[in-house]
Amino acid sequence: MLIGVPREIKNHEYRIGLTPAGVRELVEDGHQLLVQQDGGAAIGFDDAQYREAGAEIVAGAEEIFARAGMIIKVKEPQPDECRMLRPGQLLFTYLHLAPDPQQTELLLASGATCIAYETVTSAGHGLPLLAPMSEVAGRMSIQAGAHNLEKAQGGNGVLLGGVPGVEPARVLVIGGGVVGINAARMAMGMGADVTLLDRDLGRLKDLDMMFGGRLKTVYSTKEAVERFALEADLVIGAVLIPGAAAPKLISRELVGRMKTGAVMVDVAIDQGGCFETSRATTHQDPTYVVDGVVHYCVANMPGGVARTATVALANATLPYAVKLTRAGVTAALRDDVHLRNGLNVHAGMVTHPAVAEALGYDY
Ligand code: NAD
Repeated sequence: MLIGVPREIKNHEYRIGLTPAGVRELVEDGHQLLVQQDGGAAIGFDDAQYREAGAEIVAGAEEIFARAGMIIKVKEPQPDECRMLRPGQLLFTYLHLAPDPQQTELLLASGATCIAYETVTSAGHGLPLLAPMSEVAGRMSIQAGAHNLEKAQGGNGVLLGGVPGVEPARVLVIGGGVVGINAARMAMGMGADVTLLDRDLGRLKDLDMMFGGRLKTVYSTKEAVERFALEADLVIGAVLIPGAAAPKLISRELVGRMKTGAVMVDVAIDQGGCFETSRATTHQDPTYVVDGVVHYCVANMPGGVARTATVALANATLPYAVKLTRAGVTAALRDDVHLRNGLNVHAGMVTHPAVAEALGYDY
C-alpha cells in the first residue's frame, strides 16, 4: 500500500503521524511510504532519518494526498486537507467530530473512509489511541496550571505545593480517567491538596486504593462540583463521554463566584469543553480571563511537548496501521470490533453512533 504522512498544519503543531522507526516497520512490511519534507524536522526527526528508514520525501501535501491510498496524521484535517481527500482513500488520525459540524460535512463530501483515533476501543472500555495523548495532556495540565497561577500570568499568586508553614494550593480534578489520574499524580507530586470527582464509583475505588488518603475522591454531583470549584485555586476539566460533546459542568454563573485569580484548565476542550465559559485557544495565545478566572483551553496540548507526544502516539497507533495495511481496511474492520469502533465516516455517511447523535445525522 502507498502510505502518506503529511506535515501537520494546525497552529503550533509539530507532531507527525509516524516516526522514522514506524516508517521502517511499515516499509519492511512491504509498503511504500511518502513523508512530507520537514514533517518531523521541528522535533528532531529529519528527512535523512525518514529516507534512511525507507521513505520517499515529498515536497508538498498535495502530492501526498493525490498519490497515497492511506493518510496517517495527528490532528483533524484542516479544511484545505479535507478538500484533498478523495473517495476510497483511508484517513487515520484524530478527528473529534462531535463538536465540529464543518469538518464532518467536508469529510462526508470527500467520500473518504475516516478512522478516528479517539474512538478506537480496547477490551475493558479503554481508548488505546487517546490514552497516550491523555497521559501527556494530564501531566501538562498541572504544569500549565502552576504557571498560570503566577501573578504575572493573571493568577492568584499561589504556589501549588505551598512551603513549610503555608498551605498548598487546592486543586480540583473533574474526571478520573487517563487525563484526570495523570493530572492528580502530578499535582500530588508537587505537594498540592487534590480532590478528584468522577461519576464512576469503580474508578473512584481504584483511585482510592492507588493513592490512599493523599487523594480525596468524591462522587461527582452538581453540588460537589460547586462546593470544590468555589474552594479551588486550580480546576482541571478532564471528563469524557466517548464520541459526544463534553457536558458543561461549570456554569458561567459559578465562574463568577470562584476565587479571583483561580485558574481553569479545560483539557476536554477538544470535545467542546466542560466549562460554559471555555473556548478553544492556541499555544501562541493560550489563556484568557472571565470574571477574574484565568482559562487555559489549548485544544492540542500535547503539541507543546511534540517530541514526547509523537513517540507516545506512534507507539500506540503503529500496530493498528500495520493491521489496516496488512489485512486491507475491509478485512481489518470486519475482524476487529475495537478498530471498527474507530470508523467515523465512510463513503459519505456518518458511521459512529455518538457522532451521528451529537450532530443530528441518521445512523
Ligand atoms: P477517560 O475516558 O479516560 O476519562 C473520562 C472520565 O470522565 C471517566 O472516568 C468518566 O467517568 C468521567 N466523567 C464523565 N462524566 C463525568 C462527570 N459528569 N463528572 C465527573 N466525571 C465524569 O478520558 P480521558 O482520556 O481522560 O480524556 C478526557 C478529555 O481530555 C477528553 O475530552 C479528551 O478528548 C481530552 N483530551 C484533550 C487533550 C488536549 O490537548 N486538550 C489531549 C488529550 C485528551
